[in-house]
Formats: sequence, C-alpha cells, structure tokens
Amino acid sequence: MVKKSGLYLFNSLRQKKEKFNPPENTVSVYVCGVTPYDITHLGHAFTYVSFDVIVRYLAFIGFHVVYVQNVTDIDDDILKKAKAENKDWRVLAERNFSDYLKDADFLNLRQPDYYPKATDHIGEIIDFNNILLTKNYAYEKNGNLYFDIKKFSGYGKLSRLSKVKMLPVSRERGNNPDDPDKRNPLDFVLWQKKVPGEPYWESPWGPGRPGWHIECSTMSMKYLGQTLDIHGGGGDLIFPHHESEIAQSEAATGISFARFFIHTAMLYYQGKKMSKSLGNMVFIRNLKNYSKNTIRLLLLSNHYRQEWQYSEDMLNKARKLNGLFRKVWLVQSGRNGEFSFNNYRQKFFEALNDDMNTPQALGILENLSKNLINNRNKRLSSAKAFLNQAFNILGLIVEY
Ligand SMILES: [Zn+2]
Repeated sequence: MVKKSGLYLFNSLRQKKEKFNPPENTVSVYVCGVTPYDITHLGHAFTYVSFDVIVRYLAFIGFHVVYVQNVTDIDDDILKKAKAENKDWRVLAERNFSDYLKDADFLNLRQPDYYPKATDHIGEIIDFNNILLTKNYAYEKNGNLYFDIKKFSGYGKLSRLSKVKMLPVSRERGNNPDDPDKRNPLDFVLWQKKVPGEPYWESPWGPGRPGWHIECSTMSMKYLGQTLDIHGGGGDLIFPHHESEIAQSEAATGISFARFFIHTAMLYYQGKKMSKSLGNMVFIRNLKNYSKNTIRLLLLSNHYRQEWQYSEDMLNKARKLNGLFRKVWLVQSGRNGEFSFNNYRQKFFEALNDDMNTPQALGILENLSKNLINNRNKRLSSAKAFLNQAFNILGLIVEY
C-alpha cells in the first residue's frame, strides 16, 4: 500500500502548498548540488540543511528516499579560477569537492545516495542531446548545439517570467543571449564547442563540453527515472536553470519532469544577498569553533522559503538554545507521575507538516525543554525519547 502523509510542501510549479502524496513508497529527490570552484558559505549551507531535513522527515514518515545531489565539476567558473590560480581544473574541482564533503560532515548532512559528477556522464549527455535532435527540439550551429525554446510551449511555466523579463536574467546568469548563432536569444546551449586551451570531449557535433542545464536532466533521469518526486535547489536556480531542465526533460520524455519543485530562499548579510560577486560571505570553515548543533539551529531557526539576514546576534541565540538542549539531556528524571508531552509532540508534527516550518518546530522543542527542566520531579524518559526522535528528524545530535 502506498503511504499517505499529512505533509504539505510549497510547490513552486503551482505556487501553493500541496499535499505530498507520491505514487509510490520510494521517493526520488534531486537537489542541484555544488559547483566546486570555491568554499561553502552559509547560503549554500542553508539550502543543503533545508533539504537534509526534508529528506530526514520523509524517511521518518516511512518513505524510502533515494536522494541525488549532482556535482557540476566542469563549468566556466571552475575553468576561470583554475586559470587564475594556474592549476589543473580537475585538481581544483577535486580539492573543493573534498572540502565541501568536510563541511557537509560538519553540518551533519545525510549523505546523498549518489553524488554524480557531470564529467562522468558525458556519453549519457550526448545520448540525451541526440534524442532532443531527433525530436526536433534542438539544432546545431557552428559546432554548438542549442535547445529551440520556440518548440517547447511550456517554457516559462516554472518561473512565470515573460520572455522580455527572461532576457536580462538570462544574460546575468550566463545563458549568453547575445550569441549570434542562436535562433532565439533565449535558446540555451546543450553542447558548446571547444574553446582553445579548455578541456573538451568528442561528440557528433565536434569537440566540446556539455551545457550546464543538460547535465541535471541527464543525471536525474539516469538515477531517478523520468519523473522526480521532488526537485530542489536554491531560488536563484529557478531561471534559467530549472526552467531549462523542465524544457529538455519534458521535450525528451513527453511526461512531467517533477511533481514538486522546492526552492530555498536567499540569505542576506550586511544588507545584501550573500554571494561571491559581492564578497560578503560567511564560510562554514570559519564557524567550526561553534558546535554542529549551533550552526544547524541557526539555519533551522529560519523557514526555508523565507529570506533572512545573518547576524552574530542570531548565532548567539542559536548557541543559547543549544545550551538549553544540553541541559535537558543532563536532567535526572523524577518519579512523581508521568510528564505529559503529547501536546508538544502533536504541535511539533503539525509544524513540520505545514511546509516544514522548522522555526515553529524549534520553538515547541524549546518550550518543551524548559518545561522538562522545571518538572524534573516527574518521569521524563518518554518525553526525552520524543525529544530524541525530534532531534533525529532535524539532524541535531545529542550534545552534553
Ligand atoms: Zn541542476
């Protein structure tokens, strides 16, 4: 029998909360992962911790989750940085990915079932592009292969942007609308021809390397099938990346690419979006003086769809909350009747079922903890067992 859940998630495809009832008990989750050209900052961590809790909660409900997070290990940024540092691009990508894994471990992220790398899937990417060519959704020009967005009527259904509004975003995010070989400035590249001095692979259209979007369509389909239960990523990926993934995938298969698209909100620091281009980043490696729980509590105190601004004040608040939790584990249980926690339990799950409202869920655990400390004369073991279960769902560990 297929599991029914009480979980509602905000589906970016339809811009509303929808009940998460997948057709099978095995649930596929694909989250756009790192481009390993730099070190992990708090904005990345917010996205991965948010999806980590979703995956943990789905598993808790009883779904068998297959979780894939890709690695874009060939990319303009990697090549640029390798050139600037006079390093081999592969060495740079490997080093940054292994640093990411250390940060992921510090953040207590559940390992995805697969971490597919783009460069390990060039053959499959070429096959995917061939399907798009055969079906007449793609065209070749001067050694480049493009997706013809005019052929796909649903282009824009995720971002809900007009073609006019797509143009500047497309330019800003590397889709190169001014390329004279394109039929339409919004067409995007599926295969880009070799640039002297850059790595390349052979293909039916000549030597080159894959476009960014096609990597995710190819790898998600390979590991998870034609329709994903959940596709996620940072909100800045909605256009053009996810919009283009939908176009390619649905053009190839003729069926829906993802049941749910879930996007995390942007993180701000010093009044601006935390980003490499603005240089206002807080790196995970610089937060390792704090405990794992403190950093997760900092992140989970913010709802995944709510933009927020990082401050040291928030970090201190998270540390204080962690201090409270530490105390609870040390409280000795009394014998004076059973401490009743059903109300907390119910509210905790209500908060998670309402689009993963982790700030609310944490508020309930905070109140529960204060009450446990104040009722130490009662039997606390069942309540503590629940708190432990809640910790597992939120990826918190029992720290003393
Ligand atoms: Zn992607």
